[in-house]
Amino acid sequence: MADRLTLELATPTKLVVTAEVDEVVVPGSLGYFGVLPGHAPLLATLGIGEVTYQSGREQYHVAVSGGFAEVRNDKVIVLADTAETPADIDRARAERARDRAEARLAGRGQDEVDYGRAVAALARAVTRLQVAARAQ
Ligand code: ATP
Repeated sequence: MADRLTLELATPTKLVVTAEVDEVVVPGSLGYFGVLPGHAPLLATLGIGEVTYQSGREQYHVAVSGGFAEVRNDKVIVLADTAETPADIDRARAERARDRAEARLAGRGQDEVDYGRAVAALARAVTRLQVAARAQ
């Protein structure tokens, strides 16, 4: 068993992170789960949230939404629909997306589909603002 993990985090169009790490925490669609060296093989779908990984004393955060994660042989592959490091995040855009989603959720006469979309858009925006704030 290796004492570290290899993390590869990518979207369909971009390799966002490739690193040797000590621990990874992943936002699965059923909740967050942690991966340490020696973890059993696993395939999970991703929700909306932060991937956090630790390398030595440093912790890093990436906002992700949708996709899947695979753990096998001390390698963690995260293929996300969207992924942004703190440096990638446009805060003003995320604030606008949050405000739009909140306004939709506060409105009346919305159907179920619009409600679900607004909840997901709000979760993406809030996650992006959280990850951006961690860079400060
Ligand atoms: P918006 O309404 O602002 O487009 P969204 O949540 O609908 O937000 P997504 O569909 O999740 O956006 O993402 C579309 C693309 O834009 C992805 O490549 C994603 O990484 C990027 N993106 C979305 N919001 C931001 C942001 N605030 N800063 C940087 N990149 C962003």
